Amino acid sequence: MFSKFLPDEQIDQIFDLKPEKLKEKGIKGIITDLDNTLVAWDVKDATPDVITWFKTMEENDIKVTIISNNNQERVTVFSEPLGTPFVFSARKPLSRAFKTVAKQMDLKKEEILVVGDQVMTDVLGGNMAGFYTVLVIPVVQTDGKITKINRFMERIILKRIKNKDKRYKEE
Ligand SMILES: [Mg+2]
Repeated sequence: MFSKFLPDEQIDQIFDLKPEKLKEKGIKGIITDLDNTLVAWDVKDATPDVITWFKTMEENDIKVTIISNNNQERVTVFSEPLGTPFVFSARKPLSRAFKTVAKQMDLKKEEILVVGDQVMTDVLGGNMAGFYTVLVIPVVQTDGKITKINRFMERIILKRIKNKDKRYKEE
């Protein structure tokens, strides 16, 4: 039952997603989380690194959409200057926002990668919708209120996954 909580890949930061590697995997679209994935949850605007990353993806014909559970103001203020499509109040891990975006991207499930810093929303949601999932280390170690509850669940799940992995190795 834990397999839906497992990312296909774990990376340190979003900038580790590079066009060459993505193309090798057949990835043509990225659905990314915002808070603690692109910038710290309390940082309002995109940093120069984030702007460069979006530009690089665009130059390589890799479509990027931001899907966030955060509110309209937060997500709009951040995303609009980047000129990137976005969804706010997305209710991850529910599949609806993921599926809508996949349709807008006009890509197949196998061509889309979902990246985020949370197992309970980003990874679980991406897996349930059938995409390739990537977990990043949160940009900062603090969180907003709702995320704190999710983190508590996440710690329990990650611990179990680790224990399970160990057991598999010993067998
Ligand atoms: Mg996040």
